[in-house]
Amino acid sequence: MPFSDFHGNPEVVRTVREMLARERFPHAVILSGPTGSGKFTLAQMIAKTMNCLERSTADGLPDFCGHCANCVRIAEADHLEDRFAEAVEARENLREADKRETRILVQTHPDVLIIPPDPPQMLVKVDQVRHVISEIYYKPAEGRERVYIFSDADFMKEAANSLLKILEEPPEFATIFLLTDNPSALLPTIRSRCVQLRLAPLTPSQVEEYLAEARPEWKARARGLVARLCGGALGRARSFDLAQYLAARQDALALLAPAMGARDHSELFKVTESYRAGVDGKSKLDATIRVLYSLLEDLLFVKSGTPEMARNQDMLAELKRMSEEVDFDWIVSATQRLGELESGMRRNLLRSLALDSFAAALEK
Ligand SMILES: [Zn+2]
Repeated sequence: MPFSDFHGNPEVVRTVREMLARERFPHAVILSGPTGSGKFTLAQMIAKTMNCLERSTADGLPDFCGHCANCVRIAEADHLEDRFAEAVEARENLREADKRETRILVQTHPDVLIIPPDPPQMLVKVDQVRHVISEIYYKPAEGRERVYIFSDADFMKEAANSLLKILEEPPEFATIFLLTDNPSALLPTIRSRCVQLRLAPLTPSQVEEYLAEARPEWKARARGLVARLCGGALGRARSFDLAQYLAARQDALALLAPAMGARDHSELFKVTESYRAGVDGKSKLDATIRVLYSLLEDLLFVKSGTPEMARNQDMLAELKRMSEEVDFDWIVSATQRLGELESGMRRNLLRSLALDSFAAALEK
């Protein structure tokens, strides 16, 4: 899996490889970009190239082999979600006292450490950073560079301050990656000590290209639609459940139907009644709310004469018909009411009733 397998953002990949070629890779890098843009994949590729035992070049720039002992062991963490789940489960099985003192870390190679946010708060904690401090000043054991990847750089305050101490005096042979979708949430003092690289979300056509390889069993039409719906996130695109999305959209359209002039409310009640209490009902409602946001946004695009921006490209004719029933003020107030519905759900309002009154309010 060399760099040529990385999808999108060719300029950033080139910059990274040029830095690797000069053998002067920065000691601290903020790698930002939306979910699914490949931040972790790229950090892993860099870690492999730094430590590859049979480092090669492609297009005149450094690349990794993917099959030497170092590449293989680093790659064991490529599926970070699985390694993370294993680490969390291992902690769950510890005695109470040990559990409290154990922080989640993922390490499949002695010189590459991944520091995910620690549950349940899902923040990086000071003990995790202390662990980094305790080993970062030792020379690499089996590779050339020590690599530390904070896979979601959301720090508790004390942890951020500890990290700052490392960033002030990083050792020659170590590189720290801070991956984030929102670099401005990091302390300015951290940001100023890091080189910033930004991955842009992938365009629908880039995602479509990727899906043609990753999901050849899907119909081209489905791939095109998923590419639009996934918001440029490859991981989301690959595992996108289109059937579930379309079911949620069916419900969302039923909720909007009265506002679009439908007289018969029986379909609406049938839909809202199906939203039950409990965890299942919650994920079903979350999905419907997300679809409602995207439909309202699409209506805005269609109304403002930029239908090509709409995500639900397969139902443009329907969106056009709907957009003629409402004005801009309606879309704005519908979006506000959707926000209220969302926060109401956090207060555990009865789901079916809340949906009924949401639909009724839009009708006026
Ligand atoms: Zn290798």
